[in-house]
Amino acid sequence: MLNIVLFGPPGCGKGTQAKFLEEKYSTPQISTGDLFRFNLKNETELGKLAQSYMDKGQLVPDEVTTNMLSDHLDKHPNDYGYIFDGYPRTTAQAQKLDEILAEKYNKEVTITVALVVEDEVLVKRLLERGKTSGRADDVDENIIRSRITEYYEKTAVVAEHFKAQGKWVEIDGIGTIEEITQKLFAAIDHAQAK
Ligand code: ADP
Repeated sequence: MLNIVLFGPPGCGKGTQAKFLEEKYSTPQISTGDLFRFNLKNETELGKLAQSYMDKGQLVPDEVTTNMLSDHLDKHPNDYGYIFDGYPRTTAQAQKLDEILAEKYNKEVTITVALVVEDEVLVKRLLERGKTSGRADDVDENIIRSRITEYYEKTAVVAEHFKAQGKWVEIDGIGTIEEITQKLFAAIDHAQAK
């Protein structure tokens, strides 16, 4: 089982790259953001709860997010593993992910690949994406900046969790999509061969 955590701030290119990783490794992408948006669109109770946080650019509470992820894994078994995109976003979530993989499959995170992109580039990319994404949180610069602030306040520290386990690689997120994909493949192949 290959369990990849795709890490980095909003707009760093996780979603774009996840598609290429999915294809190469037969590991489906699980985006907690996409799962929340699916619930929002279908007006589920979970969607309504999540919306109040998402609209402000804040993180949805850990327990809600983790339960949703765990349910999704149970409904979509895959022996090859998974790409976790947008989870974990807090240290508590990182601990939960370790527990979930151990309890459900007796496995671990294989590697965390973090895409590094500077803030002003992120803001520009997200505003650009907002023109077509249909995402309310991509249109308003204040919400975008709140998401980036949340990232630095709550998410960036997750690096320490994976560094301590020797499961952390940083990749420059500036360059062509193809160049970045190749760097990700190299990092993941190296981690898998260990
Ligand atoms: P982006 O990475 O572009 O900010 P996502 O699609 O990953 O966007 O997430 C959108 C929103 O969904 C986040 O701003 C947050 O409110 C919520 N969300 C997604 N994943 C998590 C998570 N792991 N923990 C808490 N909230 C989350």
